Amino acid sequence: MKLLKLKLHWQILIALILAVFFGYYIPSGVPYVAWMGEIFLRALTMIIIPLILSSIITGVTSMGSGKNLGRLGGKTIIYYISTSTLAIVTGLFLVNIIKPGIGVELGFSQEVEGLVEKASSVKEILTRIIPENIVEAMAEGNILSVIFFAILFGVFITRVKDKYKENLTTFFESVFEVMMKITLFIIKFTPYGIFGIVAKEVARNADQLSNIAGSMLIYMLTVFAALMIHALITLPLITRFVGRVNPLKHFKNMITPLITAFSTSSSSATLPLTMEAVEHKSGVSNKVTSFTLPLGATINMDGTALYECVAAMFIAQAYGIDLSVGEQALVVLTALLASIGAAGIPMAGLVMITVILTALNLPLEGVGLILAVDRILDMTRTSINVWSDSCGAAIIARSEKEKTNVGL
Ligand code: ASP
Repeated sequence: MKLLKLKLHWQILIALILAVFFGYYIPSGVPYVAWMGEIFLRALTMIIIPLILSSIITGVTSMGSGKNLGRLGGKTIIYYISTSTLAIVTGLFLVNIIKPGIGVELGFSQEVEGLVEKASSVKEILTRIIPENIVEAMAEGNILSVIFFAILFGVFITRVKDKYKENLTTFFESVFEVMMKITLFIIKFTPYGIFGIVAKEVARNADQLSNIAGSMLIYMLTVFAALMIHALITLPLITRFVGRVNPLKHFKNMITPLITAFSTSSSSATLPLTMEAVEHKSGVSNKVTSFTLPLGATINMDGTALYECVAAMFIAQAYGIDLSVGEQALVVLTALLASIGAAGIPMAGLVMITVILTALNLPLEGVGLILAVDRILDMTRTSINVWSDSCGAAIIARSEKEKTNVGL
């Protein structure tokens, strides 16, 4: 009974640790618990589209004028691009110093044909932002298109007659309120969901991870170290000095979504929890969260951007290809584009590496080298993606003169 009184993030942390032991020592029991994870993920995925649609429309209409939207949008994009670039540069720096790819056994590579086929070019990704059919985009979970449509819809709500404007604004605000209530309801089941997901992933990956060759371990540690520098030094400094936000206080508020991001490897599935924590715990206004967080979950991926860069450099090193400074600059640029194009779902970043490899004429089979260790890195980079989104929302709120609960 006592466990029930623990704060939710403690419950989740305990569930995570128990799941690791369960998945490792009792893999035969995993089928009996995995369903909890599946149900939890399905429930989160179920609410994403109505949540994004209603939150962005509400956010955009509450900004009132196009000028406000432009200002907030401008700040958001500047934050996304600059933090992602800083993350990539951190990764590039470490991968050049540590050189984890030198001397890697190429025979370790795994088959990746399916993955390479799934990759799409940057041009294709940008074109697809405009949906041909919005219902299809929603049904397929094509979040960027849904965001595009929602922004457009929100902007034009402010331009219709008062009578229609009021009706539509109230309608979408009401939908948003209901979606947040459903989110709060689903959040209660997070410990169970995380137990199911993590136990399953541990049972599935344990063998692979214990067989990892030394050089792969160094590659993992390089990505991990760079991610930690970005999350624990760069972002807190920006949060503290640019946003005048207390990073530690904000971090504590974000523990539930961060562990959920870690366990699910999906920024999109975590989005409802991120919105709840940033708004209700860190006290950022609905106007800012409802616009910046859905956008951030889809296009602001610092962890993924960093990972794209380190992985591409690792593959080049493994194949003995020396990249010039100019080529490394191209890695930075394509890593940024790849992270923007990557969907907030598991393994999206891995698929997007092919964009960089193609741009630099590097061997596409290189992706097979890093496949075995992708899941654990995916979990880590997804948490960093969500952490950056939440810092961005707090910083932007402060720049809009909001008090919040985490201001200095
Ligand atoms: N899984 C990541 C996310 O959802 C994307 C990636 O694979 O890097 O944020």
